[in-house]
Amino acid sequence: MKKYIKAKYLIDGTGGPVRENPVIVVEDGMITKVDTAENIPIPDHAEVLDMGEGTLMPGMIDSHSHAGQDYNREETIRDQHLMPEGLRVLRGYNSLKRDLMSGVTTVRLLGDGQGCIDKILRDAINAGEIVGPRLLVACQAIRPRHGTAPEISACADGVDEVRRRVREAIFLGADVIKIFVSNISNGDTFLDYLRGDLTKVPAYTKEEIAVAVEEAHRVGIKVAAHCIGGPAVRWSLEVGVDSLEHVNLIDEDDIPYFLEYGGYISDPNLILFFDPVLGYESPLNKTHKLEDLPRWWQQKVKMTKEQTKRVMSKALQAGVKFALGTDPNHGLLHLECKYFVEEIGATPMQAILAVTRDSAELMGLADQIGTIEEGKLADIIALRANPLDDINNLRDVIMVMKEGQLVKESSF
Ligand SMILES: [Zn+2]
Repeated sequence: MKKYIKAKYLIDGTGGPVRENPVIVVEDGMITKVDTAENIPIPDHAEVLDMGEGTLMPGMIDSHSHAGQDYNREETIRDQHLMPEGLRVLRGYNSLKRDLMSGVTTVRLLGDGQGCIDKILRDAINAGEIVGPRLLVACQAIRPRHGTAPEISACADGVDEVRRRVREAIFLGADVIKIFVSNISNGDTFLDYLRGDLTKVPAYTKEEIAVAVEEAHRVGIKVAAHCIGGPAVRWSLEVGVDSLEHVNLIDEDDIPYFLEYGGYISDPNLILFFDPVLGYESPLNKTHKLEDLPRWWQQKVKMTKEQTKRVMSKALQAGVKFALGTDPNHGLLHLECKYFVEEIGATPMQAILAVTRDSAELMGLADQIGTIEEGKLADIIALRANPLDDINNLRDVIMVMKEGQLVKESSF
């Protein structure tokens, strides 16, 4: 059965100009035609989704999240992982539903540790048992013994163990490999964790990173490396890591390496550094209550924030590819886009491309999602107002369609 979707504007995600009075024809979950209302006559009694004065665009892609974590909950991230597995799955379902209702139709989950709840959710969504965004999952991330985030990762030291853990993640069903190439835990208290965060100290050697990439790429799987800054940035890019997560402490001298090797900057943590309510500097921040933390940490946050703004702006101007994520502020990808525009200096179009076309390319799914073109899957959202006029309009999503299935529609 054909569906006709019409609206005032279309941002097709190719980077081309906004199109007026569009009609999109959807059949069997695919986009079969995109043109103007004049060129696509709508037959009587056809199924029409009229978005009125709204703007259509591709479903958004969150390049970095975790199903079993949510910053908007009362417990710390660590405590959330101690919950029983069944409860984590249910909470993950709710969190992913929030993502979907906010216009995010694809999410890359970069590590959920014990029980691989990300894989359980992915398979249940694919089987049609529950409704949620399309998921790419890492199952368990990989870290060295002294690395960060033990609750979402498995330990591997030395090239042989890294190779084995990569193969294990693939065996468990991973769509993407996630490794922690920076952050050291010198002790097991929260302060020890903070001491090892926001630093440029590498956690893996270049050889260990290289073997992870070699193993994953040989079977066509991409690699995402958590990396705050320092020598591991260049090592990762040189050995072919596909996306560097966060990189809040990259230097200007690192920028040419991104351009030469083509690695993405993914999830630059903009909500965490710039949002007055959810960010590190907010008194309401649940995981990092600033007034309770030592001065050295507060100074680290200030310095990293300043460097993120300065160097990321230069990286963007130089043409480094970006993908944005929420890690894991579920349902708030629009906020990450807002700070990409307001703090990093992206145009609204660049922000939109970073959560559509460009992130689809990072996922290896550019032939299926990320743009509204004939032959692509019908992942389509409608916004009440045009986000090119004001990026904050991304917040007001009035329709969400995933693979031709209408999952949200509010009255205009
Ligand atoms: Zn993460």
